[in-house]
Amino acid sequence: MSKTNKCPISLRAKSIEPYEKIVGKQVVEKLKNMSKRLKGKSWTHLNSTYQGGGVAEMLQNQIPLLRGLGIDAQWHVIEGNQKFFEVTKKFHNALQGVSQEFSLDDLFETYLGTIYDNAKKIRIEADMVTIHDPQPVAIITHARIFGHVLWRCHIDTSEADKKIWRFLHPYLNHYSGAIFTIPEFVKEDIQIPVYEIAPAIDPLHPKNKLRDRKQALNDLAALFKKNNIDPERPIIAAVSRYDIHKNQKGIIKAFKLLKKNLSSKISPLLIIMGNTASDDPEGEEMYKKMQKLAGGDKDIHLLLNVKNNDQVVGSLIHLAECFVHISTKEGFGLVVTEALWQGTPVIGSNIGGIPRQVIDKETGYLVKPDDYELVAKNMKKILEDKQLAKEMGKKGQEHVRNNYLLPHKLIKELQLMEYYLDGSKRAPGFRINDVSYYEINRKYYGRSQWPFTRKEFKSKIRKLKNA
Ligand code: UDP
Repeated sequence: MSKTNKCPISLRAKSIEPYEKIVGKQVVEKLKNMSKRLKGKSWTHLNSTYQGGGVAEMLQNQIPLLRGLGIDAQWHVIEGNQKFFEVTKKFHNALQGVSQEFSLDDLFETYLGTIYDNAKKIRIEADMVTIHDPQPVAIITHARIFGHVLWRCHIDTSEADKKIWRFLHPYLNHYSGAIFTIPEFVKEDIQIPVYEIAPAIDPLHPKNKLRDRKQALNDLAALFKKNNIDPERPIIAAVSRYDIHKNQKGIIKAFKLLKKNLSSKISPLLIIMGNTASDDPEGEEMYKKMQKLAGGDKDIHLLLNVKNNDQVVGSLIHLAECFVHISTKEGFGLVVTEALWQGTPVIGSNIGGIPRQVIDKETGYLVKPDDYELVAKNMKKILEDKQLAKEMGKKGQEHVRNNYLLPHKLIKELQLMEYYLDGSKRAPGFRINDVSYYEINRKYYGRSQWPFTRKEFKSKIRKLKNA
C-alpha cells in the first residue's frame, strides 16, 4: 500500500439496504448475492487526487459501499508536483485529440521521474486493482503491484494524439484489462480485454439526495445572500471544473444571446459554479478568463470553490429551470447525471457520454457545442414552457434511476471481479472485444484478425446494440 497520501475523507463502510427503495429489491438482492461469493476479496483503486473531478467523486461513494458489501476496498493516490500535473494535463488533452507539445524532459524527467518516485513507495497486493486515467498509467511496470490490474479510462481516447499514444500504449498493454465508458472511446489497437462500464452517481450522497424547493433554498441562502442572487428569478445553471473543454465560454455566449431574445417578463440568471482540482493546474486561469468574458454582466454569476459544495451544487441543480453542459470533449459528464437525477432538463452537447444521458427532446436537448444560437433557443423553450420542462425533468430522473445509479455500476464491477477470480466463467456481456466480436468480424468482413478499422468497429457495435 502507499504510505504517502492519506485520504482526507471518511470511507467508512456503508450498507446497501437503503438503496433498495431507490433502485428496487431485485438490484439490491443481486448485489448481496454476488458479494457473498466475493466476501473478503480485495479491490484497490489508484488515481491522482482524492478531491475534485468525477473520478474522485465516484470513488468517495463507491469505496464505502464496497466495504459495506464485505469487499476489502482501498484507495490510494499518487503524488506529484505542479510540473507533473501540468504534463499529465497535457496528456489528458492530447489523449482527447488536442494537439500538445511534449519535450523529452516532459515525458522522461517530469512524468516518468515522478512515476519512479511514487513507485518506490507503492506496494499493492489485492485481488483486483484499478488504476484510473492517464496520470498514474505507467506505474504498472514500475511499482510493486500484484493482482489483476485494470486500467480505467474515463476519457475519450478515440482520436488520441499519435505521439502521446505511442508513448503510453506499451504501458496499457501490460494491464489485465481496460474499462472504458463507451465503446466509441476505445482506440482500436488496444490488445487487452476491454469492458464497457458507464459511470454512476450515488443517490444517497448529500449532493444527490432528492430535495424540495424549500430545502434547496435553505442550502443556498448564505451563498445567494453573499452574491446578491435573487432566488425568485429563473436560474440557468452550469457546474464543472473551469476547463477549456467544459466550454463555459459557450454557455456565457448563449446566455447573452438568450437575453436579447426574451420578453421582459422573464429575467433569468446564469449561475456557473466551478471548482479547481489539485491535479488540474489550468483552473484558476480559466476562471479569470470567464470573468473577463462575462464583462461585469450582473445577470451572470461565476462562482469558484463554494463552501458546502455538495449541498450547494445539488440544490442549485435542483432549483435551476435548466442545466447546461455543452462540453467540447467529455468522458461521461457525471454532472449531467446529477442534473437529470434532480429532475432538471439538460441542454447537453452531442459529445462523449452526454448523448447516452440527454435524449433529445425527451430528457433535454442535444446540441453541437458551438451552436450557441440553438443553445439559446432551447434555453428559451425551457424557460417559457414549465410543463414541458417538468415532463423532461421527470423522464431524465427515470432514465438515471434505471441506468446510472451506483448499484448498477457495482453489479458490473463485481461481475468483472468474479470473472477474473474464477477463470472458468464466461466473459461478461459488457466485454466489448470478446470472442463473439471476432465471430462477427468473420461474418461481416470475412476475416478473423484484430484490429478492425475504427469505422468497422463502430458500425459493428451499432449492429450488436440493435440486434
Ligand atoms: N463538481 C462539484 N463542484 C464544482 C464543480 C464540479 O462538486 O464546483 C462536481 C460535479 O458535481 C461532478 C464532478 O465534480 O460530480 C465532475 O464530474 P464530471 O464527470 O462532470 O467531469 P470531470 O471533472 O470528471 O471532467
